[in-house]
Amino acid sequence: MASIKGSADVVIVGGGVIGLTIARALALRGVRDVCLVERGGLGTEASFAAAGMLLPQVEADAQDEFFDLACKSRDLYPAFAAALREETGIDVELDTTGTLYLALTEHDQEEIERRYEWQTRAGLPVERLSAAEARELEPCITESTRGALRFPKDIQVENRRLLSALANSVKKLGVTIATQTSVDSLILEGNRVQGVQTSRGRVSCPTTVIAAGSWSSFIKSSPQSPIPTIEPVRGQMVCLEAKPRLTHHVIYSPRGYIVPRQDGRLLAGSTSEHAGFAKCVTAGGISTILRNALEISPAISDLPVVDTWAGLRPRAADGLPVLGPCGEIDGLFYATGHYRNGILLAPLTGELISEAIVSSQR
Ligand SMILES: Cc1cc2nc3c(=O)[nH]c(=O)nc-3n(C[C@H](O)[C@H](O)[C@H](O)COP(=O)(O)OP(=O)(O)OC[C@H]3O[C@@H](n4cnc5c(N)ncnc54)[C@H](O)[C@@H]3O)c2cc1C
Repeated sequence: MASIKGSADVVIVGGGVIGLTIARALALRGVRDVCLVERGGLGTEASFAAAGMLLPQVEADAQDEFFDLACKSRDLYPAFAAALREETGIDVELDTTGTLYLALTEHDQEEIERRYEWQTRAGLPVERLSAAEARELEPCITESTRGALRFPKDIQVENRRLLSALANSVKKLGVTIATQTSVDSLILEGNRVQGVQTSRGRVSCPTTVIAAGSWSSFIKSSPQSPIPTIEPVRGQMVCLEAKPRLTHHVIYSPRGYIVPRQDGRLLAGSTSEHAGFAKCVTAGGISTILRNALEISPAISDLPVVDTWAGLRPRAADGLPVLGPCGEIDGLFYATGHYRNGILLAPLTGELISEAIVSSQR
């Protein structure tokens, strides 16, 4: 294999949704020589496996800094999707129908009641529906529904189309892309980044971004400041075919979810498993997902299963994303640990990291 281009202004390690979004944001801010290094193919890991839900409100128990970031990123999506369409012609199928959160047990009912209370107090858009109202909106949901919340601003994107649009956009913007190439270590001089050592040779660069998802901590840095530990949390998915469409909303319960795509696929998810890097689909995983999906909608019972897959969510010790300058090593930035929310947080991550890099170079 030919050796890699020897220098760049910024090297981004990892070509998932996070690395691609940062590469695009840097190029749009006028950084000329951006090089994205990806071990396999672009957008083939967690970002490909995801369900594409953009649901900060559905899952939030309180208004904290993370919640504010997540809402901010969600609200960037309409402009982000429109810009990608303009640049690439690819429609990322941002579906703004909204999300229904069902209460199916007494415990679920208490939980949605708490969520409704704090979110209405905070002035957030959320509607409380009776069981009859919820079933009128989405007749496929179970007759055992006790009530529901509708989150009109919690929406979904077709994440695989998003990855194609981002890959297309960064190529058009002149980002150098090295696929089938892994970054093994950082090249440091004192406490400064001088470059990266890859499987195809060295790239000199004053700035490096670690966006390598679940594999981030394998990249060798200095013994004094190793890259923060990121662990993989496996999520499995089942894809059904629903033609005509069974539902228009994303439908969520405390145990599972179903996500309708425009082409008739209906995704059901997911699991959260600490199973190392074994990215396999298991009998137990699929059975749990289907049980939870059937609890939401017994109507899925006759639908054909057309695909299954698994991906590894990158999780830091506290479950929060690791974002921004490393601090101890000049020129090193982190954009990893997005865990369950990397698709949601991508546009804001792109903005924050590109802004931090450009202002550090001023
Ligand atoms: C089943 C499932 C459902 C999910 N659903 C949602 C959802 O609905 N909404 C949401 O917001 N999020 C969801 N997520 C989470 C989301 O997928 C992740 O948070 C997000 O994809 C992380 O993006 P990333 O770019 O950091 O990681 P990845 O997409 O894993 O990309 C990291 C890339 O780095 C590359 N890499 C690793 N090491 C190296 C190296 N040394 N050199 C070069 N390249 C390297 C890898 O090959 C990979 O391509 C889900 C995840 C799963 C698994």
